[in-house]
Amino acid sequence: MYNRVLLKLSGEALKGANAYGIDPKTVNEIAKEITEIKDLGVEIAIVVGAGNLWRGKTGEELGMDRAQADYMGMLGTIMNALALQDALEAAGTATRVMTALPIAAVAEPYIRRRALRHLSKGRVIILAGGTGSPYFSTDTAAALRGAELDVNAILMAKNGVEGVYDKDPRKFSDALLLERLSHTRILEERLEVMDSTAASLCRENNIDILVFNMNKPGNMKKAVLKEKIGTVVTT
Ligand code: UDP
Repeated sequence: MYNRVLLKLSGEALKGANAYGIDPKTVNEIAKEITEIKDLGVEIAIVVGAGNLWRGKTGEELGMDRAQADYMGMLGTIMNALALQDALEAAGTATRVMTALPIAAVAEPYIRRRALRHLSKGRVIILAGGTGSPYFSTDTAAALRGAELDVNAILMAKNGVEGVYDKDPRKFSDALLLERLSHTRILEERLEVMDSTAASLCRENNIDILVFNMNKPGNMKKAVLKEKIGTVVTT
């Protein structure tokens, strides 16, 4: 079993069957799965995205200043973090929301040593605000926090796909699921696991990434117990 993991939840994971936004029922289901792995004794840090609410790139395409639009995206991650916190606490799991973009009324600032303290006390930490800087993604925030919190692996929970394929499974019916691959291959073949900044950070710091389908109940537990599911990215 892994002792400490970083779970990357994309914003899309929280929208359920809706086109966008937050679906509390879906968030409750995710919280149940997280509570299950927490009860195994695993230390969990979660980095949450905001693609269900806003993406900086979309704003830029519509004529906005990129940095301004990115800050809106970071604010979106804080909304998602609060929704997750609500569901996790209702499921009986102690949590702290820590944000890289300070909003003192609702979340603690991200301070590495405090984050480690929360983890050692068995609290699930929800890391919002991405890296706190525009032009980055929450995947990069996951790689960064994964490195500094010294996690055993990053769990990339995906929506509806089993792992990483050699080509897009939504477009090609003969797409092959890759059970094991290297960070270098992600970078060279531009595979859709995470963006290249995040992938190189993981490569440089030897962080394993597990990519799996989070729509199948029990998969998160299997990932933590090192059972064979989805794709393992390793050096
Ligand atoms: N973002 C940012 N800096 C960061 C992380 C996120 O500016 O360090 C912004 C960026 O605009 C991004 C948005 O927040 O589009 C939402 O994050 P992301 O797209 O990574 O969410 P996900 O795809 O995981 O839902």
